[in-house]
Amino acid sequence: MLNVTFHGVRGSTPCHGDDTRHFGGNTSCVSLRAAGEIPIVFDLGTGLRYYGRQVNGTKDFHAVCLLTHLHYDHTMGLPFFEPLLHSDTTFEIYAPRQPDGRSIKELFLEKIKPPMFPVPLEQFAARIVFHEVGDDDFSIGNLRVSSRYVPHVGPTLGFRVSLADVSVTYLSDHQQPTGESYTLADGARELCDDTDLLIHDAQFTDEEFTEKCTWGHSTYSYARWVAETCRVKRLALFHHDPSRSDEALSAMAGDVARSCATSVFAAREGESVDVVTCSA
Ligand SMILES: [Zn+2]
Ligand SMILES: [Zn+2]
Repeated sequence: MLNVTFHGVRGSTPCHGDDTRHFGGNTSCVSLRAAGEIPIVFDLGTGLRYYGRQVNGTKDFHAVCLLTHLHYDHTMGLPFFEPLLHSDTTFEIYAPRQPDGRSIKELFLEKIKPPMFPVPLEQFAARIVFHEVGDDDFSIGNLRVSSRYVPHVGPTLGFRVSLADVSVTYLSDHQQPTGESYTLADGARELCDDTDLLIHDAQFTDEEFTEKCTWGHSTYSYARWVAETCRVKRLALFHHDPSRSDEALSAMAGDVARSCATSVFAAREGESVDVVTCSA
């Protein structure tokens, strides 16, 4: 069994207010646990701070981040991750290889230092290890990981993590085709086919997409289509637009759920989901 917890479910920028309290306002961060395995966290958005609070103080803490890409909403939580203040922490970050040859480590060191941040990343006590990946398959303990480049703005990965016959796919930022008909890139399809839980970009309504079709994201309708086309068992709508109210989001998720062959819910901060195969 894989256990998934949502710590941040928003896209683009954190938000706060009475009308977003139910689903939460932190940006992308999802943790995945399996008994006896190294914990995995997808993305380093502001939700990471809350995951950090849960695990801070764990002796010899060792975790792995599967980072989809370097946009602020997916990275700004890193310097606020409390386990990084301890020298017995090891944090490994797998991130997309950059086409311009610059290393991920170099890019983070450039970003987290004065004057943009008060403390340089290299002065944090923890051991932070960077790995660059592309279209790859690798293992973290007994967990099998597939990373594939997916359409977005700039080099971006999606991930699929499997243990025995249970799998979770994370496609946080995913550009839907701008043309008339829906299609799916081969890499994204490999990640989604028959997966047990698909966490998928659902930032826009169809109406919004007509204005913002090159912003790198998907609509609720496209997320539903991907889930149905790939025979996904459960779909979590994710990367909610920061301007989407709880009421609007609930209504939208309800509409998708009523018309979708796949079981659907809108990801909510603080929610945990146990993922098992249908046959289990
Ligand atoms: Zn994003
Ligand atoms: Zn992005």
